Amino acid sequence: MISLGIDIGSTTTKGVIIDKEYNILQSCITPTGSTPKQSAEKIICELTQNLSPSLIYATGYGRSLIDIADKKVTEITCHGAGVNALNPTARTIIDIGGQDSKAIHLAEKGKVADFAMNDKCAAGTGSFLDNIAHKFDLKYDQMLEMISRSSYKAKINSTCVVFAESEIIGLLAAGENMNNILAGVLKAIAVRIGRLFSQVNGSVDHPVFFTGGVARNTAMKYILEEELQTELIVNPYSQFMGAIGAAVMAQKDLT
Ligand code: ADP
Repeated sequence: MISLGIDIGSTTTKGVIIDKEYNILQSCITPTGSTPKQSAEKIICELTQNLSPSLIYATGYGRSLIDIADKKVTEITCHGAGVNALNPTARTIIDIGGQDSKAIHLAEKGKVADFAMNDKCAAGTGSFLDNIAHKFDLKYDQMLEMISRSSYKAKINSTCVVFAESEIIGLLAAGENMNNILAGVLKAIAVRIGRLFSQVNGSVDHPVFFTGGVARNTAMKYILEEELQTELIVNPYSQFMGAIGAAVMAQKDLT
């Protein structure tokens, strides 16, 4: 039997269909936009064109909006279940999405032992990076190369995106180069994530997973690894981890 997991996030809606060995048979992603219910329906419709899941579990901030789901589960529980299904030895997860970031400490079998979350402001989230990237015309696939050319990390004091933007404009006007500024912006985010990591007693003795859309940002991964002094595991489906976890939980209920 197959199951469908859907994660209706603030920025993107992701869905997967998996089989009982947790193989991903189908995946789909779309911007959530201003109509989360419709985005979710679109994803479910696309995923079920040729496959008929026995159970549909939903997660993400918009999970309450859909009627079709058999069960609704929190993102934190789903990230734990998803990472555990991929790597049962993992104990810590760093999840950076569009509007929030989290550190999750797992006990055995993917059970959530503790978590810490930054959801009050954009600092340390994907939208902070999106704003800076947009304003200064930076491309995500060029960021790693840019920071490799930095000579140091410029100090960014503001965590509010509006103030950070003015600070960057000031640094550029003073002749600072963008590579050093970008390294500084990523470092400021990494420091915030490092605090969440410490709050949950993140363990570098076991594999640490990096999930959420920002895990696709190779420059962010590099600076975070430097900050946390450990390697971060990024899976090609890292952005889908909430949806994978929802589908895994459904599979467990099917057996
Ligand atoms: P949510 O679940 O909160 O809706 P996601 O986990 O999908 O958010 O993450 C969205 C964020 O991922 C975006 O704000 C963006 O910063 C980042 N992102 C998405 N795609 C890429 C990419 N190809 N490279 C770098 N960052 C990306």
